[in-house]
Amino acid sequence: MMKKISKEDMNRFIQSLLSDYTVYAPVNIDGIFSFKPITNFQGIDLNYQNSKKPPKEIFFPQSETMFEYEKGKVTSAEKVSRKRILLGIRPCDAKANLLLDNVFAGEDYQDVYYINKRENTIIIGLGCRRPLSTCFCTSFGGSPFSRDGLDILLIDIGNKYIVDVVTDKGKEILTDKFTEASEEEVKLAEKIKRETEKRIKSEVKIEGVKEKLDTMFESPFWDKLSERCLGCAVCSYLCPTCHCFDIADEAKDSQGRRIRNWDSCMFPLFTLQTSGHNPRPTDKERMRQRVMHKFNYFIENYKRAACIGCGRCILNCPVNIDIRKVLKEILTN
Ligand code: SF4
Ligand code: SF4
Repeated sequence: MMKKISKEDMNRFIQSLLSDYTVYAPVNIDGIFSFKPITNFQGIDLNYQNSKKPPKEIFFPQSETMFEYEKGKVTSAEKVSRKRILLGIRPCDAKANLLLDNVFAGEDYQDVYYINKRENTIIIGLGCRRPLSTCFCTSFGGSPFSRDGLDILLIDIGNKYIVDVVTDKGKEILTDKFTEASEEEVKLAEKIKRETEKRIKSEVKIEGVKEKLDTMFESPFWDKLSERCLGCAVCSYLCPTCHCFDIADEAKDSQGRRIRNWDSCMFPLFTLQTSGHNPRPTDKERMRQRVMHKFNYFIENYKRAACIGCGRCILNCPVNIDIRKVLKEILTN
C-alpha cells in the first residue's frame, strides 16, 4: 500500500504519537547522531546519513538491568512499560535486527528482555538517499530502500514522503493525514531508489568466503591481519549485528541487581578463565574469532553472514582495518 504525507503533517503525526508511545528517533548531539527517546518532534534530525551507534540498543541496550531484589523480593525488568516507535532507522539496520532475532528469538533461545522490546515496537524506516562510500548493503542482498524488518518505509521525495506500508502493525498507526500516493509520485520514488542504488560503488563478494574460512583456522593470515589491531573493540561495539554481552551482579547487603552489558570478543577479558588460562590470548585469536563468527559460524548456524554492510567498522576503526578488504584477501588467500 503506497501512501503519502507532507513533511509538515509528518511532524504533527510524530507529535501525536508521543501521547501513546515512547518514540525513539535520530538526534544530533554535537554532530553525532544516535537514537534517543524524544519529547517533541523538533528534537528529531532526519537529515542524517546513519547513526554512529546502531539502533540495536533499542532492543539490546548497552547496559540493561535484568532484575532487582531487596530482602527476598525480586522485581523483573523484562516487560516494557510503554509501547514504542522506532522512527527513521535505515533499512540496513532494520535488516540487522532480523539477524539478531536469530540469536535472541530463535528456536534454541528466547530472550524475554529482547523479545518484549521487539514485540512492543513499531519500526518506521527512512530510505537512505545519501549512502556513504563505505556502504555495501547491496553485497548482502540489501538496498538503501529495503523493506525487510520494517513496518513502514518512508521515501523522501522532496516536500513529502512516500509511505510504503509493509505490515499490519504499520497500518494500525496511520491517520487520515496519510493519503493515496499518485502514480507519478510512486514513479518518482522508484526513480530515486534506482538512482541511489547505483551510487553504492562498494561491492564485496561473499560467495565462497565461508568455505575458504573453513580451511584457514591455522593460517598465518591472522597474524598479519591482527598486527595493526589495537583491540579497542570499536568495530564490535558499533556493529549492528554484534551481540556479545557479559552479566554482572551488583549487591549491597540484602539488595542488588543483575545487569548485562555489551562485551566484545576483541577484549582479552572476554575469554579469560578463572584459572588464568585464556584460549584467545592475543589479538590474532580475537581478530580471527570476529571474522569467523560473522562469515563462517553465523552462516553455519543461520545460513547468512552476520554483516549487513553498514560500513560502521570501516569508518570508525582507528587503524583503518577495512572489512571489505579483509573479505577480498580471504578469497584470494
Ligand atoms: S576497531 Fe580496528 S583497532 Fe579496534 S578492535 Fe576493531 S579492528 Fe582492532
Ligand atoms: S560493515 Fe562492519 S559494522 Fe557494519 S554490519 Fe558489517 S561488520 Fe558490522
